[in-house]
Amino acid sequence: MSTWSEAGPRTVEQHAAAVAALLGPTGTETVPLADASGRVLAEDLSAGVALPPFDNSAMDGYAVRAAELAGASESAPVELPVAADLPAGRTDVPALEPGTVARIMTGAPVPEGADAIVPVERTDAGTERVRITAAPEPGAFVRRAGEDTTAGAVLLTAGTVLGAPQIGLAAAVGRPVLPVRRRPHVLVLSTGSELVAPGEPLQPGQIYESNGTMLAVAVREAGATAELLSFVPDDVERFRAVLADRASGTGPDRPDLVLTSGGVSAGAYEVVKDAMTGHGVEFGKVAMQPGGPQGCGRLDLGGTSVAVATLPGNPVSSLVSFEAFVRPALRAAMGHPAPARPVVSARLAGELSSPAGKRQFRRGVLDATTGTVAEVGTAGSHLIAALARADCLIDLPAATTSVADGEPVAVWLLDT
Ligand code: AMP
Ligand code: MG
Repeated sequence: MSTWSEAGPRTVEQHAAAVAALLGPTGTETVPLADASGRVLAEDLSAGVALPPFDNSAMDGYAVRAAELAGASESAPVELPVAADLPAGRTDVPALEPGTVARIMTGAPVPEGADAIVPVERTDAGTERVRITAAPEPGAFVRRAGEDTTAGAVLLTAGTVLGAPQIGLAAAVGRPVLPVRRRPHVLVLSTGSELVAPGEPLQPGQIYESNGTMLAVAVREAGATAELLSFVPDDVERFRAVLADRASGTGPDRPDLVLTSGGVSAGAYEVVKDAMTGHGVEFGKVAMQPGGPQGCGRLDLGGTSVAVATLPGNPVSSLVSFEAFVRPALRAAMGHPAPARPVVSARLAGELSSPAGKRQFRRGVLDATTGTVAEVGTAGSHLIAALARADCLIDLPAATTSVADGEPVAVWLLDT
């Protein structure tokens, strides 16, 4: 079988599939409702109780027998004794005797025998006796048991992404916890002898390390968990030692994926490439820009192995590659129904040229009201300040060499 580099560059789709194939579906864990936000439901949720669980009042007013009030009006009120007072939460509701009414609050159980609620506004609000000035239809303002859902009905199916309404529903049917798909755990490790931690003084020739922090945040925003390791210089032995120490465990903090940045290009001192070539990780080109040099595979750690995706070091390349390959793979692994970013079509404001044979992701700002997108910065893969102003990626197909002002382009929405 030919290797990736011999076979020529991969397409974005091919490399995305290769990275996704490294991650199996994650298992299930049970979390309290408050921690379920954004998680993917692992099993169908069925209703433990009907909703509403009992017939109850939709209004503050009086529970009545509708037939006893036929003909009641402003000019011909009907007066009846108030036999009971029913606040919400009352559990010992007496049956309604004929010829009486019960004062009732919203959410209180409708007493047996009553078949309608008269809102307090259509009465004199009496507490011993009450004058009623409207004739209710049978069933008026009664919220029927089970009209929202019956007990046992499937309310949410496995694969649903849980947000506030879904978690509220789980609570409403009495669930304190939910089974959700486990988040993949990602170790993030940057490489480069030029890197200095933010906060430290910079020597000439040094730069602040930014990819590690940026990628760890991106991993968490994708819904996975990240452990950011301290970056290592371009030293194969140091790099290998960190991986052997941190990636080969068998405990619960064992990573599902190791994500590296830097050290995968064609130069000398390509520490990631040098340390992993021949140990299960393949390196080659993807026909894209930025983010051409890539690698992925299962790194052999002697008796065990770990999934690895190696991203290039230029900050824009790193994040664009993350968006194209890693984010969708992580989300697919945790069962997310829509692993990819939403893509919309927008009209380009300005013109762009793009290299033939490479799919290009330019950084853009979308104006949703006019449906136009404008580039921020230029194609340079080091322009992190422009990246930070962008809210989308403009996806230019490999065959595209120029786009005219006003032409439609595909746009990946990043800020959702
Ligand atoms: P490399 O892929 O290691 O050849 O790096 C390509 C470019 O990205 C170089 O200009 C590096 O200095 C820069 N770079 C690499 N890693 C990082 C990082 N972790 N943070 C910021 N810049 C980086
Ligand atoms: Mg480097």
